[in-house]
Amino acid sequence: MQKTSFALKKKGKKLGVVLTMGYLHAGHLSLVQIAKKNSHVVILTLFVNPTQFAAHEDLNRYPQDMKGDLKKCREAGVDYVFLPTISEMYSKHFETFVTTTKISLPLCGASRPGHFRGVTTIVSKLFLITQPDVAVFGKKDFQQLAVIRRMADDLNFPIRIIGAPIVREKDGLALSSRNVYLTSEERKNAVGISTALFWVRNQIKSGETRLTILMSHLKNKLFSCGLRLDYAECVHSENLTPLTHYQKGKTLFAVACFAGKTRLIDNVVV
Ligand code: AMP
Repeated sequence: MQKTSFALKKKGKKLGVVLTMGYLHAGHLSLVQIAKKNSHVVILTLFVNPTQFAAHEDLNRYPQDMKGDLKKCREAGVDYVFLPTISEMYSKHFETFVTTTKISLPLCGASRPGHFRGVTTIVSKLFLITQPDVAVFGKKDFQQLAVIRRMADDLNFPIRIIGAPIVREKDGLALSSRNVYLTSEERKNAVGISTALFWVRNQIKSGETRLTILMSHLKNKLFSCGLRLDYAECVHSENLTPLTHYQKGKTLFAVACFAGKTRLIDNVVV
């Protein structure tokens, strides 16, 4: 892959990359379209990265559909798919990790210790392997995007990081490979996440900006939908530090909750 990328760059091609764990959906494919607009050649990587999963998480049952994914990539106009094996990415001598020390601590970092260390390590490796000029990440994983922006800046990766809008089902549920785990009842409950976040956004538009009141209603709404809260927080959208007052355009409401055993995340920036 790295040789291919170097050869393409030598020919003057601008490379765009989309990093995924597969089981592709319209959210992933929207990133491909943004990558296509911003580069000559699009590489999609497909790798379920073990170092970003904790022992009790869903690594071993993470959904896979290699044939379907390759078909979707072909139809979307992806030029190269890079699908390494675990042993190709992590040799038995592997011992080097990349870590952000602050931005990875709150939100998902607090409930999934070690997760972002796995993410920054694999993203660094995939950046060095694919040599992109542009990399597109979804705002659905808002903290991941912030962590990767921090890392790319701190380590001087010569890559433009683009954040892409969240793609949703008609009823508002954010698309996720993990939605396939949901039973029909859990699926009905899961829509409560986006409904509650949109309610907060509308409240702010109507002039209610007191965060303690908004957060308490938000949590109640999630609870009343039968969802088990992991966290619901209100932080500054750039550095992810807690906010006590609403800041126009910079206020991130981020939620993680369980519908049954499935952990879902979503957010809005207001
Ligand atoms: P994943 O395969 O879940 O690791 O996601 C790969 C990339 O797709 C990440 O940059 C995600 O943020 C992005 N992504 C996943 N779901 C969505 C969505 N519903 N809308 C936009 N981007 C998404």
